[in-house]
Amino acid sequence: MNIHEHQAKELLRKYGVAVPRGGVAFTAGEAEAAARELGGPVWVVKSQIHAGGRGAGRFKDNPEGKGGVRVVKSVDDVTKNAGEMLGHVLVTKQTGAEGKEVKRVYIEEGADIKRELYLGMLVDRASGRVTIIASTEGGMEIEEVAHNTPERIIKVAVDPATGIQGYHTRKVAFALGLEGKQVGAAAKFLTAMYRAFNDLDCSILEINPLIVTGSGDILALDAKMGFDDNALFRHKDVAALRDEAEEDPAEIEAAKHDLNYVKLDGNIGCMVNGAGLAMATMDIIKLYGGEPANFLDVGGGATKERVTAAFKLILSDPNVKGILVNIFGGIMRCDVIAEGVVAAAREVQLHVPLVVRLEGTNVALGKQILADSGLPIISADNLADAAEKIVRAVVKERA
Ligand code: ADP
Ligand code: MG
Repeated sequence: MNIHEHQAKELLRKYGVAVPRGGVAFTAGEAEAAARELGGPVWVVKSQIHAGGRGAGRFKDNPEGKGGVRVVKSVDDVTKNAGEMLGHVLVTKQTGAEGKEVKRVYIEEGADIKRELYLGMLVDRASGRVTIIASTEGGMEIEEVAHNTPERIIKVAVDPATGIQGYHTRKVAFALGLEGKQVGAAAKFLTAMYRAFNDLDCSILEINPLIVTGSGDILALDAKMGFDDNALFRHKDVAALRDEAEEDPAEIEAAKHDLNYVKLDGNIGCMVNGAGLAMATMDIIKLYGGEPANFLDVGGGATKERVTAAFKLILSDPNVKGILVNIFGGIMRCDVIAEGVVAAAREVQLHVPLVVRLEGTNVALGKQILADSGLPIISADNLADAAEKIVRAVVKERA
């Protein structure tokens, strides 16, 4: 789960991470009030959406081509710019062409930027450790820095047994070219950030840019925070920060039924048990010239209700022109799955071709149930056969 910049900064502030003062606003009036409260003389009006690249982003309907982060010098300009953002669609490198509607803005005090740096923390699966990523190239996308100038990025892994230590923070501070009192400030900053990361079960915490101000202070100017969904149950206050308006409605629906669903751009819906098999199914669809419309793992205990919910979810995507069900009946029996598929297909009045590949326990019985259902279900014998059949059926459907 991700949260907004202003929420991330609020959490970080509680842990003692240095962030500028600011206030969130849902209307231009609230923006004005927040600006007065802050007092100026420089304010920054920041669009709050779950995507980066806002500064360089463009509003769909703004003829002057102004971005999603603006520095202004009067309360009137705060109000005016907030009004130009709220209710308007911002397109950035990370939103895709359709963009995202700005529903809230963050009014922040303007900082005197001397240097823009990059600081991130994430869970590195290879080392099994929280790893600090730092670079002198702040303000731009770290992926680009990693691609073009990888030598400008350093990584420091923190052993969970010791937690963050002085030698970690010094290594990062020196790599960032900090000196004098900044080294101590960086130690405090990093230690607080690491504590927030661990306590809150973050999966990512990215400060881009981390700045050095004219007076030599260190400050988080942007904050992106992502959480491990499997740990959210122990952070009710964090879970409450969820903004469903920022998430894909189909993915929210999927979460309600414990389905792992990720929408993609193709036209072949997939329903599979097991994440590995789901990945393999998408691969083979592509191998046969098709494009998967989604990733969907119905999990181990695929009940009729879950299968029905999965069908509805797949069909809620108007691009779907056919469905491939690929289930391995291990603990689950194929006959139970077949009954679920038949019942679900009836209930949703399936109107696109459906290819079903079953394998495992009671497979013969399962296939019999599909054949006897009277529904136009195309049965397949193996993964390749299934992929070929669904790709052919979808091509025929479109012709
Ligand atoms: P994004 O990464 O989505 O573009 P940022 O919060 O990083 O958004 O803002 C983009 C740029 O705007 C920053 O790199 C910085 O130069 C400037 N900026 C952001 N917040 C402030 C602030 N409070 N004071 C001064 N400049 C800011
Ligand atoms: Mg940024």
